[in-house]
Amino acid sequence: MRVLIVEDDPLLGEALAAGLRQLGHAVDWFRDGARADAALAGAEYDAVVLDLGLPGGDGMQWLARWRGGAAHDVPVLILTARDGVQDRITGLDTGADDYLVKPITVDELAARLRALLRRRSGRAQVVWQHGALSYDPAGKRVTWQGQPVDLTARELALLEALMANAGRILSKAQLQEKLYDWGEALESNTLEVHVHHLRRKLGRDVVRTVRGVGYALGAAQGGEAP
Ligand code: CA
Repeated sequence: MRVLIVEDDPLLGEALAAGLRQLGHAVDWFRDGARADAALAGAEYDAVVLDLGLPGGDGMQWLARWRGGAAHDVPVLILTARDGVQDRITGLDTGADDYLVKPITVDELAARLRALLRRRSGRAQVVWQHGALSYDPAGKRVTWQGQPVDLTARELALLEALMANAGRILSKAQLQEKLYDWGEALESNTLEVHVHHLRRKLGRDVVRTVRGVGYALGAAQGGEAP
């Protein structure tokens, strides 16, 4: 998933960005709300991790602004040193999906992000099932017809994006935004290569090409007789 971190503490920001990237997420990290605001206008994020004490404008004000504008539905997780009960209530009532108090480990943050993604994709189960395919976002494990399948980090990210948006067609640009952050150079045919590999490992039909539009999660029946 593509995550936007807004955190002015350089050590914490760096640690969170590096930790989440290591877990296979695309991450953009900014130190103030204005840059984060510009980033939100330019890419589709799966979640925002928002500090409150930020230079040039409090995180709560940015959250209120996003909820009233174009970024109204992006999941936002507040991560702050403010631990008062009233702060938590205000944060959640301003539109945050979760409220975490520092210090926090990358592992807990990643688990909170998985929970957000699960809710957003309408799934309650921790292991996602689709036909002969099952995907465990916590353990990054994929099985196909009951057999474990090895996927690269990008293939996993692509599969997760398709499964999180089942029933929806994602454009190539949308998928690229979910797989790559702004620091990464991108070959124009990279996405097609990952789609090709997913189909080779999980069956041709698992990714449906919608001509001229993009890709969608397809049938995953494993080639069994109907
Ligand atoms: Ca801060």
